[in-house]
Amino acid sequence: MALVSHRRSAQEILDELDELAKDDIDWKHGHAFSLAYYAGDDVYDVAQQANLKFLSANALNVAAFPSLRRMQNDVVRWVADLLHGGDAAAGFMTSGGTESLLMAVKAARTRGAQRGIVTGEMVLPSTAHAAFEKGAEYFGVRSVRVPVGNDYRADVAAMAAAVTPNTVLLVASAPQYPQGIVDPVSDIAVLAQRHDVNCHVDACMGGITLPMMEKLGEPVPPFDFRIPGVTSISVDLHKYGYTAKGASVIVHRNKQLRQQQTFRTENWLGGIYASSGILGTKSGGPIAAAWAVMQYLGEDGYLQLTRVARRCFEQLLVGLRAIPQVVILGQPAVTLVAFGFRDVDAFAVGDALHRRGWFVDQQQPPPSLHCTINAVHDGVIDSFLEALRAAVDEVGGSDSRGKQKAYGSLE
Ligand SMILES: *Cc1c(COP(=O)(O)O)cnc(C)c1O
Repeated sequence: MALVSHRRSAQEILDELDELAKDDIDWKHGHAFSLAYYAGDDVYDVAQQANLKFLSANALNVAAFPSLRRMQNDVVRWVADLLHGGDAAAGFMTSGGTESLLMAVKAARTRGAQRGIVTGEMVLPSTAHAAFEKGAEYFGVRSVRVPVGNDYRADVAAMAAAVTPNTVLLVASAPQYPQGIVDPVSDIAVLAQRHDVNCHVDACMGGITLPMMEKLGEPVPPFDFRIPGVTSISVDLHKYGYTAKGASVIVHRNKQLRQQQTFRTENWLGGIYASSGILGTKSGGPIAAAWAVMQYLGEDGYLQLTRVARRCFEQLLVGLRAIPQVVILGQPAVTLVAFGFRDVDAFAVGDALHRRGWFVDQQQPPPSLHCTINAVHDGVIDSFLEALRAAVDEVGGSDSRGKQKAYGSLE
């Protein structure tokens, strides 16, 4: 389709957008177990209105937009406090978990370079997020993946054996994405401290849920700045912060570590150019939305949303355990779960669920399906389980094989 030569009416275009969205997964009613988070129409409305107000404000230079400086500082402070960062902690907002992880890799590479390391290496469990590989490729850091144990937790002894004089970064996740399991962060941080290298905790998923679980009195393994060797932590606000897409935070233990993620040049004819992350021009929308939603919800709101998500998660686990063919991978204890099947093709089940209007991730190894549970799933777990049982029955009796669907796409 070519670009129209004459302008169309706004109403016609907006109607067409609604029409286009009709084939999208019904995420506002909990039919997506990946990619989308929803805390209700009222929260969405606050995010939407705040986003609109600052849509074209530019966070590239907050001297022109003191509003965005203030909002960014507030959001980073709220997240740093949740993580027990203390007064020294300092960070930046980024466009998402990927950018936060890229900056963690970049900061570690810069610190290594300052110590004379030419090609830095990062040691990370096989379960750490794919965005670390992106960082490795973009920044020329060598990725040293270490297999996890049968319980899908990081194998710290194996990580210790992989450390060399070129190591600049150790990674732990809280929880890791594929099986939703929290790594032994304390042990990994001790290892990092012993070698005096960075230790990044990827809490993109758990950075809000885990602190709230702790406040609710649930058992939570240590993962934050209370562990001395942890140098930085990432937390996605566009996941369990229930704000608009395009918002994550990376918090460093102190300003000196934070400085290593920044970029500054005068090597052009445009003067001093400095930025905190990957982006140049950066919409103020997601920053304003995060600032607004976090205050709209407050700690009470997040506690309640966490309670709901955890209840849905437990309900799903009970239902999964009751399906004889299902095998849950490891012992997930936050809000993410992966499961495979005995004698049934996991990807074919995933395809059959999609035909029934439900979206789950397909991953391997081993071939499995993956669900991220959040507050939007309140009231839908039973119907999802019913669809899952039907899908298993449909696929189980046949030889049907599905082809794994990718998590992301290049289209
Ligand atoms: C989602 C996620 C990321 C990547 O975040 P994006 O917002 O998709 O860029 C990184 N790590 C973990 C553990 C995640 O869940």
